[in-house]
Amino acid sequence: MHSLTFLGTSAGVPTRTRNVSALALQTQNSKAWTLFDCGEGTQHQILKSHLSAYHLSRIFITHLHGDHVYGLFGLLASKGMQRSPAPLEIYGPRGLKEMVRTVMRLSQLHLPFELHITEIGPGDRLQLEGFTLDVIPLSHSVTSYGFILAFDDTPGHLDTEKAKAAGIPEGPLYGRLKRGETVTLPDGRRFEGKDFLTPPTPGKRLALGGDNDEPMRFAPFAPFDLMVHEATYTQEDFDRLPRKFKHTTARQLGLAAQKMGLSKLILTHISPRYDTDGRILELLREVERVFDGEVEIAYDFMKIKF
Ligand SMILES: [Zn+2]
Ligand SMILES: [Zn+2]
Repeated sequence: MHSLTFLGTSAGVPTRTRNVSALALQTQNSKAWTLFDCGEGTQHQILKSHLSAYHLSRIFITHLHGDHVYGLFGLLASKGMQRSPAPLEIYGPRGLKEMVRTVMRLSQLHLPFELHITEIGPGDRLQLEGFTLDVIPLSHSVTSYGFILAFDDTPGHLDTEKAKAAGIPEGPLYGRLKRGETVTLPDGRRFEGKDFLTPPTPGKRLALGGDNDEPMRFAPFAPFDLMVHEATYTQEDFDRLPRKFKHTTARQLGLAAQKMGLSKLILTHISPRYDTDGRILELLREVERVFDGEVEIAYDFMKIKF
């Protein structure tokens, strides 16, 4: 199983219960993990979680607004103090390299590990350990990206009963069959591994959004098993704002998810105004009125497995 841990779910500023944006992805059978966005204080959130910055190997930044990136510098400095030797990859929009390198230069931050910063753009596809990641352009006041993660299929199991019935002796040959190899018995009979494997389990598809006011930008890439997207306000509150910011409302996100035929949606990047259970319910109800699938509102340290 893979898992997502929400390390920050507040929009713009932290509150007493929610920190600013950060989301951790752990993939099956790997200690190395991936972080999506790194708002200020993310390193404190990591310390309070089951995760360790030591094993953090990759960071994706959706956009350069402070509530998504200001935690990067403190996290880098602390990771450097841990003498973590493995290289760290950081991916994000144009300008990220200059931002990080400038802070490092001015504060004389020297890291004991290799730091690779890659500026990404729409249409980029990265083949990573366990999944493929596609970069899609979103609509926000600065360049902002969403990511489509397509996880590798889980190979089928060896049907040992079938192998026994075929007269293949137990032992190392079973390992070779499991890897899909062809095995030949001393009597000359040949068997193909694929004939003894149960069907593979298809890998899940995830949609992760940065800040965005057009959730339908994800539609060409649907379906997804899960979508995690900002829903900063209810429609009612948004309509009353004297100045509009480029964010999605709960209603707008619900309508988009319904159109895309999604089955599960998680709302995050919640405005600090929804600081009570009652107010959070307003967001939830607004989505539920227009979306038939399962909905959850993320909270800090919420962990989901998939
Ligand atoms: Zn934001
Ligand atoms: Zn933003």
